Amino acid sequence: MTATRLILLGGPGAGKGTQAKRLVATLGVPQISTGDLLRAARKAGTPLGEQAKSFMDAGQLVPDVLIIELVNERLTQPDANAGYILDGFPRTTAQADAMRTHGIVVERVVNLVVGDDVLTERLEQRRVCRSCGSSFHLEFHSPKVAGVCDVCDGELYQRRDDSPEVIPQRLAAYALQTSPLVAYYDELGIVRTVDGTGEMSRIFERIIEALS
Ligand code: AMP
Repeated sequence: MTATRLILLGGPGAGKGTQAKRLVATLGVPQISTGDLLRAARKAGTPLGEQAKSFMDAGQLVPDVLIIELVNERLTQPDANAGYILDGFPRTTAQADAMRTHGIVVERVVNLVVGDDVLTERLEQRRVCRSCGSSFHLEFHSPKVAGVCDVCDGELYQRRDDSPEVIPQRLAAYALQTSPLVAYYDELGIVRTVDGTGEMSRIFERIIEALS
């Protein structure tokens, strides 16, 4: 049976968001990206968005208590009944513990492995659509028209935290706070390591194999 309650683990720029969007179409369960939820909260000017702002712009993790509440609320929506692709959550062992406490089931953890030099290059070259969130790489997956999203014609922009000043902070946060989750879930025997480099469609095939 194919797992439908998943965590995509991997450093910033590992391809979690891109692959999650493909998985949505194949598995028929929603992508739940805490980064996207936080950016939406910021755009809407909610108290959560305001609180998250300074952490995000500095490349630091937003406090666990805020994130756990955000995810719990999202998971109560009916579209998550049959499963979910967690993209960017959990990012700390405290978040993983909170998931267990709340009875949020995880069947598979896909660990997308990409080296720091490749991650840095991908983040610097990344442009994201303001409307639909699709991601492009200026060299390897460039939009057909510069600055315009291929999917929805929305405007492409560079995330503030994809800047050369912030990227090292994000890589450090991943190494220190998030990478211990590999061992955490390995103890449960549910981690599959997937090479996150090369063709996007090939990476997707590897992920699908890892879900069976
Ligand atoms: P992402 O879009 O996943 O790269 O997340 C962008 C930023 O949002 C991160 O650098 C953090 O500041 C914040 N963030 C997203 N998800 C989490 C999380 N699970 N825990 C803490 N902070 C998060």
